[in-house]
Amino acid sequence: MARVVQGWPVMATPSGPADELASYFLGAFGENNDLLEGVLVELLRDHVYWRRNFHPDDTPPISTAAQFDEGYQQRVANMKRELHRLAAQLKRSVPTFHPRYIGHMTSDLLLPGLIGQLVTTLYNPNNIVDEVAPVTLALEHEVGQQLCRMVGYATNTQAVPCGAGHLTSGGTLANDEALFLARATRFAPLAVRDACEATGAWVEPALRDADDVELLGWPTARALDLVHRVLRRPDLSSAFAAARVEARGLVSFAASHPAAGRCVVVAPASAHYSWAKAMRLLGLGEHQLVLVPTCEGRMEVDGLETTLRELETSRTPVLAVIGVYGTTEFGSFDELHRIAGLRRADRSFWLHVDAAGGGYLPSVFRETDGSLRPREQVSAGFRHFPSERVYRSTAALAEADSVTVDPHKLGYVPYGAGAFLCRDRRAFELAMQQAAYVFTSTGDDEARFRNAARFSLEGSRPGAAAAAVALNHRVLPLDHAHYGQLLSRSVRACESLYDQVPGLRARLEGLASVAVPFEPDCNVVGLAFNPQGNRSLAVANAFTRRLFDALAVRPADQSGGDAAFFGSCTTVPLAHLGTAERARLSKMLGVEFESADASGLFMLRHTLMNPWLLSSPDDSARTWIDAYVSHLEGVVRALRA
Ligand SMILES: *Cc1c(COP(=O)(O)O)cnc(C)c1O
Repeated sequence: MARVVQGWPVMATPSGPADELASYFLGAFGENNDLLEGVLVELLRDHVYWRRNFHPDDTPPISTAAQFDEGYQQRVANMKRELHRLAAQLKRSVPTFHPRYIGHMTSDLLLPGLIGQLVTTLYNPNNIVDEVAPVTLALEHEVGQQLCRMVGYATNTQAVPCGAGHLTSGGTLANDEALFLARATRFAPLAVRDACEATGAWVEPALRDADDVELLGWPTARALDLVHRVLRRPDLSSAFAAARVEARGLVSFAASHPAAGRCVVVAPASAHYSWAKAMRLLGLGEHQLVLVPTCEGRMEVDGLETTLRELETSRTPVLAVIGVYGTTEFGSFDELHRIAGLRRADRSFWLHVDAAGGGYLPSVFRETDGSLRPREQVSAGFRHFPSERVYRSTAALAEADSVTVDPHKLGYVPYGAGAFLCRDRRAFELAMQQAAYVFTSTGDDEARFRNAARFSLEGSRPGAAAAAVALNHRVLPLDHAHYGQLLSRSVRACESLYDQVPGLRARLEGLASVAVPFEPDCNVVGLAFNPQGNRSLAVANAFTRRLFDALAVRPADQSGGDAAFFGSCTTVPLAHLGTAERARLSKMLGVEFESADASGLFMLRHTLMNPWLLSSPDDSARTWIDAYVSHLEGVVRALRA
């Protein structure tokens, strides 16, 4: 039965019988504990049967009698004591499963993935080679294909490009891999030419006649066509391997190719700090990361265009441009369609999309047959989502060379699951340790590409993570009718909070002003406050800080007993904002940004990920979001009293 909250219908009463997601979570009160316990016990017993039935005629190494001796009992007691102690310590964890938790991008977990992970851990597969993980490597392959299709990559193995993806420990590693492959691909034409010269092989005119800066600006497909051909030539492939930056090292490579040594990576100022880390790790240097200012939380594409033009003028090659699909801070989406349009045939760059934050949202845009739904259909059931910009960005994901997705964020799986997706799987050949000419037939090629670990930056990897992600995708495929339902709920909760801000603002009139500095694109809302009459940014920040302290969890108080709601906070550095953006925020908040009394804007930040935020905490028409807004109002009043 539809209910009306703040003037708009909630799709289903989340705690009522029509709730399609009720069976998929343990629940804030452990409502589904019988289900979880039953299945876990069943699968644990099933695992033990498996052990017993593997060579049942052997003698068990742990004798039954051993379990009755005193030392054994003592050691079991020690173990139990430590386990109980751990269980007690864990009670100080942050209750991220509860609708009162609206801080970071974490929530209650989908049961299929959670159970899948716990049970698979008993079998302990290592997704490094299929010898030790025949089952879970196949699952990882399946998951990679599904995620590729969700972002719009083609996965037909008979065609080029064919997308491929694999799991990583998280978004950070996937971003590292993106930069590693971008560099390998963009530097490859230089190494091919060196290899031809070293072996006396014939040099294609396109390679011979171009200078280094031109070669570094080749479109990805062109560079990969070349690599693909060279790797299959026994006379060239080992000279090519020896000429690559991965063999020579950056110092030696840059000595012969100074332009390669000057390469930069361009990212929005809102990019996650893992990009700075990746630059350090690859030896490219953090100073070669060029940050473009943001406007309303998104990369200023005009600014990017200017930056690219300046770099072209100074003949500085651009290794990659990073677009963000869901910034860590505010879930903002860069205009990927416009960024992708800045590539030219004679001056291209590797476009990587960091969708660690917003990954899985494309499921809302997918039909069950995988096609992109028209915007009018996607927007049914939402008040604002998806903006034209968000819609077009989502459609443009397919044009990116690679994408990072984090199943352990919006995929609702336990930690340890990120994903790296590549539009043209031939790029992975540059990460493989074994030369391609060793494999001759196409059939071998398929096997090579299926074995994700051959080109992962990581070594041993948990097969349990692959099982968890695969289980979730099997129960809830990545389309609007399944995963999309869950994600939609999150976006609707965000819209509910956003739509309540004008009311809150009116009620706080005369006490403090409240603003949403960056309009939400998906499921994150930031709120900034300023006490009435104040013009100092430092004072406004201090006020919001006190507000946060009154709302949030502190390490000493993590039991959560009294904390009414768990939010998060962030500081937006002023240096990240363009001039127009500073003026806009200054006017919106009524504070001076130009005075040097603060280095950033301090804000409350809310990620509305819990599936039950639009249900009621007390069986009234009031939702958890309503309850949070009135709690917030109360805390502001108390601080101003
Ligand atoms: C979370 C996040 C990352 C890092 O991912 P981890 O899984 O924490 O390593 C990178 N980029 C963005 C945009 C993120 O939100």
